[in-house]
Amino acid sequence: MKNKMLSLPLVAISLFSCSQVKTFDVEVKIVAATCISEGYTEHIRNDGYIYRDNFTPKTDHHYSDFTIGGDDGVVYHICDVCGKLGYDFVEQEISTEVVIDHMREKPVFTDHKVMAVSMIIENNPDDAIIKIRKSEAHGATGFMVYISALDPIYRNVDDLERIMYCTNLPVLAIAYNGTFAGTTTQLSPEETANLLKLSVQAGACAVDMPGYLYNNYNSIPTENKELKAEYVADGIDVSFVDANAKEISLNKTVIASQRAFIEDIHQLGAEVLYSAHVGVALTTEQTVAAAKFIEYIGADVAKLVLSGSSKDTVIDHLKSCIILEQELGIKFSVHGQSTLSRLMCPMFGSYIAFCVDEYTNDETNIQIDLATMVAILNSPELSGNN
Ligand SMILES: [Zn+2]
Repeated sequence: MKNKMLSLPLVAISLFSCSQVKTFDVEVKIVAATCISEGYTEHIRNDGYIYRDNFTPKTDHHYSDFTIGGDDGVVYHICDVCGKLGYDFVEQEISTEVVIDHMREKPVFTDHKVMAVSMIIENNPDDAIIKIRKSEAHGATGFMVYISALDPIYRNVDDLERIMYCTNLPVLAIAYNGTFAGTTTQLSPEETANLLKLSVQAGACAVDMPGYLYNNYNSIPTENKELKAEYVADGIDVSFVDANAKEISLNKTVIASQRAFIEDIHQLGAEVLYSAHVGVALTTEQTVAAAKFIEYIGADVAKLVLSGSSKDTVIDHLKSCIILEQELGIKFSVHGQSTLSRLMCPMFGSYIAFCVDEYTNDETNIQIDLATMVAILNSPELSGNN
């Protein structure tokens, strides 16, 4: 602490010459501002009263830079006064040149303990490559690339290979319908399946199979209610049907097509993440049942996005994660829509932490900031892994 303290005891000459009690300063302390506290003048009066005035604002921190061996591209700084730590990325120009090595060993999507995934939503390969390489430098351990955000002219093996081979970390391909990065995509189930297969042929190591693939999105909750009894008779818990969960189809013809698609992807040497944005809050029991149902379908990762953002729902999500870690034979990614749930579920066994490296209009702020998530996942104390 470098507070400069000035004590100025005042001589009270007039004290005895006056019959009336006058108040006056017997001591004045001038305390200088620092980077952690305001400055002020403290007056101690002859009647014991103490007050402060002449406040001055906090100063800037007084940083010294340093680097840590092996941590290329990051410059740390520490304040000499208060010890506040910070860091800056040294941004280098990122090359979009990609060497395509067809002999490389394909990264395995489910090979990690927990994966900080950077969402890549760009409409052309160069921007996607820059975003992937930048987030890799910032600590991402995997990528989810919206293939359906790419302008259709780039949906070919050559352009997709540049994206899939620009990193040696796992890339998962997503082909949702909708408008992403200015590209509007409306694919039939067969076109979706073909685009995902093409991505795998181009080097993607996993694909996102929406649970509604090969079915009518809107009729699933109603259809499931009619089909529930068959599953109950077989001893399969489908209690999520009672909550009107979306995107998980019980239709056996649909499931046969989904299993054939999963088989095709496995044949091509990649993995399948089954995704369901259920649109409702599920109890812990219903969430566990839904994840086990996805395992029964044959996917390699069960992804469930649950609704509800109260703290109670977060507790349900965390309980689900604890149970699934013990009872599920495949990886799972379970979280709610709230920041708290997205932040905490990866600490409780959820495989994927969905992150955004740089917020833009397309990469919405519902995802967790990559640097924050990486810091949490790397901390043995905060990760819950110690
Ligand atoms: Zn400071």
